[in-house]
Amino acid sequence: IKGLYGRHFAAYDDKLRGKLLRERDITDSMESALAQNQFVVYFQPKYRLCDCSLAGAEALVRWNHPQWGVQPPSEFIPLFEKSGFIAKLDQYIWDRTCAVLREWDQKGYPPIPVSVNVSRADIYHADLADVLKEIVERYELPPSRLHLEITESAYTENPSQIIETVEELRRLGFVIEMDDFGSGYSSLNMLNRMPLDILKLDMKFIQSETVKPISQGILRFIMSLARWMNLSVVAEGVETGEQLRRLREIGCDYAQGYYFAKPMPLAEFEELFSQRKVH
Ligand code: C2E
Ligand code: CA
Ligand code: CA
Ligand code: CA
Repeated sequence: IKGLYGRHFAAYDDKLRGKLLRERDITDSMESALAQNQFVVYFQPKYRLCDCSLAGAEALVRWNHPQWGVQPPSEFIPLFEKSGFIAKLDQYIWDRTCAVLREWDQKGYPPIPVSVNVSRADIYHADLADVLKEIVERYELPPSRLHLEITESAYTENPSQIIETVEELRRLGFVIEMDDFGSGYSSLNMLNRMPLDILKLDMKFIQSETVKPISQGILRFIMSLARWMNLSVVAEGVETGEQLRRLREIGCDYAQGYYFAKPMPLAEFEELFSQRKVH
């Protein structure tokens, strides 16, 4: 992901990130953007593969900039990670997400869980568990309604501290998803030590241009490992019916991707509740 961001940066130097870098006080402009509600949560649905029913969603931030329009996270998250502002933005996103979950409950929508992204910086924040606990309590939600996506690479830096924090979050009832699983950092040995509920397969597993028998073999292996460890598996980046077919074949539990839907604003997502089955 770091490499991708780097390449993006070179190509888009004139766009938002370049402009931001030129600003003298980045933090000031982020704070005011936050105060002016310029950060918006988009939702991308996740589906159960057995019956294609709606199983949940991932909350993904967008920056609705007054001059530059809706900006994807690749344009600003790396900067926010550097400046430390990411912790504040993430807490805001978790809060907005829980407010939406509470609203859905009051409207009588099905009680699906929503996943939020937890960045590496958040984990080192001393009271992550307290912050999250306070938010779900304020909106009267069981913690299991909030899934926490923690990227695989975050687990490698300081394993014992991460394990401790994540164990506490699980004890509180939050559901932990390892994001970007298989992107190249974790060893199978480490997986063994990680407190986890769900594996979220990195996109590259299903997006390889030519479907080699070996990649299907690796997927099968991951599935049986996950079964043995009692973990569910989500595939992300599903773009074609053929990829979906391969995932069904190996017994993957959930899928998310453009084949079903792109991340969308709240109002649009809520229309999915009235559609019974989509695919
Ligand atoms: P991620 O957590 O791995 O999220 C998945 C990304 O894949 C999203 O990009 C999503 O829009 C995109 N995606 C979904 N389906 C498909 C597909 O079928 N094909 C392709 N090519 N892409 C697909 P997005 O929304 O641009 O977010 C990029 C990254 O920014 C996320 O990667 C995550 O690491 C980070 N991010 C997004 N929102 C937040 C947030 O609220 N907090 C933090 N800390 N990070 C966030
Ligand atoms: Ca994610
Ligand atoms: Ca990620
Ligand atoms: Ca991911």
